[in-house]
Amino acid sequence: MANLIDDIIRNAEQRPDAVALRHGEDATTSYPDLRDACLAFAQRLRDRGVHPGDRVLLCCPSVDAYVVAYMGVQAAGGAIVAANTMATRDELSYFLSDSGAKLAIGWHENGPSLQEACDETGTDLLVLTEYDAARPQSIDAGALADLPIDRADSDLAALLYTSGTTGKPKGTQLTVGGLSAAIDSAIVASGMEAEDRCGTALPLFHCFGQVAGMLPTLRGGGSLTLLHPLTLEGQLAMIPENGLTVMLGVPTMWMFLLYQAGEEGVGAEHFSTLKYAVSGGAPLPESIITRFEDELGVTVLEGYGLTETAAMGTFSQPGGPRKVGFVGSPVQGIELSVRDFDGRELGADEPGEVFLRGPQITAGYWNRPADTDAAISKDGWFRTGDIGLRDADGDLRIVDRVKDMIIRGGYNVYPAEVESILYQNPAVLEAAVIGVPDEKYGEEVATCVVIKPGEEVTPEDLEALCREHLSAYKVPRLISFVDQLPKGATGKTLKRGIDRAEVLKSAWRSESA
Ligand code: ATP
Repeated sequence: MANLIDDIIRNAEQRPDAVALRHGEDATTSYPDLRDACLAFAQRLRDRGVHPGDRVLLCCPSVDAYVVAYMGVQAAGGAIVAANTMATRDELSYFLSDSGAKLAIGWHENGPSLQEACDETGTDLLVLTEYDAARPQSIDAGALADLPIDRADSDLAALLYTSGTTGKPKGTQLTVGGLSAAIDSAIVASGMEAEDRCGTALPLFHCFGQVAGMLPTLRGGGSLTLLHPLTLEGQLAMIPENGLTVMLGVPTMWMFLLYQAGEEGVGAEHFSTLKYAVSGGAPLPESIITRFEDELGVTVLEGYGLTETAAMGTFSQPGGPRKVGFVGSPVQGIELSVRDFDGRELGADEPGEVFLRGPQITAGYWNRPADTDAAISKDGWFRTGDIGLRDADGDLRIVDRVKDMIIRGGYNVYPAEVESILYQNPAVLEAAVIGVPDEKYGEEVATCVVIKPGEEVTPEDLEALCREHLSAYKVPRLISFVDQLPKGATGKTLKRGIDRAEVLKSAWRSESA
C-alpha cells in the first residue's frame, strides 16, 4: 500500500533543507513546505466532498500550484484527470462527463471555458491562485491524521486523454503501481540523483512532463523548475539562473532553442550546467542533435514512449554508446517486440510495428473495453502504432508512425526520414512531410516548410537536396512555404492540422515525375 505523495513526505523527513521547487535562488519551496501545502490541499479537497477513488479534473498551467493540486489529489486518494490548458469548453465538458469527475480544479487566469463546462455538466469548480502554492500552510494535525490515503497498486492515479486522432479522445488509465514503476524506471534510465535540478519545458498535463519530469524528480529528491509557461528567452535565462542539470523538451523546442542561440549570440556558456537534455515525444532530426552537441556542447538523449506506456518505453542512457537516430533500449521492466503486420516477430534491422509490455503500461482506456482489447493483447503486449527496428544490440530506431506513412505508387515513404534531410539545409526552421491525394500514385509526397527569418531558399534547392540523399520516390514533389506549422499543446507539430487542400492548391510543384 502506497501513495505517490509518499516520495515528498519521505524527502521532507530525510532532507528537510532540500529544495523541491525552484524558480531562481530566491524563489524556492522546500520539501517540508511542499508536503504541507499538498496535505493541506488534500484536506481542502475532502472538505469539498472528494473521496478516495473520485476523479478530479485539473486544468492549470504548469506552475507550482499544479504540483500542489496533483499531489493533494493523490494524498486524498483521488485520481487526476489531466486537461490540456488549451482545451475548449466542449472538450472540457467531454472530459468531465466521460470521466465522471467529482470536482474540477481551474486556474484564476484561465478563460471562461472551464466554468462553462462545469455549469453544463453540473461539476463543482475550485479555482487555484499562486497563493495556494506559495503560502506557508498551517496544518491541523487531527484532520490530517489519516492522510495520505493508503492506495492499492491497481488504484487509478491519473487519467490522461489521448489527442483523439481517431474518434473521441480516450482516457488512458495510469495506476498507482504503473506510475510508480514508470518513475523508478525513469530514475534508473536517466541516472537522476538528489543533487539534480530538472527543468521541464513540457506541460505537466502531458505524460512526458508529468511522468518523465515531475514525478521522478520529486521521488529522487532533486529540484524541479517549471519552464513550460515561459517564452523561449525566459526558458534560456532559467538554465544558468537555476543551475539546471537536466532539461526536458520536445524536438520543436530544441530546434527553436538552437535557432535562438545562434541569433541572439547565446553560446555554449548558457548551457554549461546541463549534464544532458532529454528529447522525446516526436522524432528528433539527426542534424539537430549533432548541431546541439557541436554548437552548444549539450548531449541530447532521446526517450521514446506514449501516454499509454506512462512516458518512457525506451531511453538512450547517459554514458552509454552514442547512437544518433536511435531512441535507446527498453527501460527497466519494459519488454520490446517488433512484428510484421501478421504479428510475426522480426529480427534485427527489419522494420515493423513496435509492441511494448511491462508494469507501466496503461490499465486500459476508461470505460472502453473494445478499444482496450484492440490495443492490448491478452498477454499484455501494447500495440504502439509506430514503426521501428532494432539493431543487433537491441537498440530501437523509430522509423515513423504507421498512420503518417505515405504510400506512393506502392512504395512506403516515411516522413521522418525526408524531414531529417530537409533539416540539413540550415535555412529550414521547421519541416513537415505529409501525403496528399494523387490520381497517378494514390498519394504524393508533399512538404510544408518554415524558413528562418532573413534566410532564403528556393523549392528547387530543397528538391535538389532531397534528390541527393533520397531515392526518387521519396522526394517531395510539392513544396509549400508557410509562416508556421500547426502545433499541439506540447509544442509537437500536428500534421493532421495541415490543410491538405490548401497545399494541393498553392504548393510549388516539381516538374519531374
Ligand atoms: P496521438 O495523436 O496518437 O494521440 P500524441 O502525440 O498525442 O498522439 P503521445 O502519447 O503524446 O500521443 O505521443 C506518442 C507518440 O509520439 C508515439 O506513438 C510516437 O509516434 C511519438 N514519439 C514519442 N517519442 C518519440 C521519439 N523519441 N521519436 C519518435 N517519435 C516519438
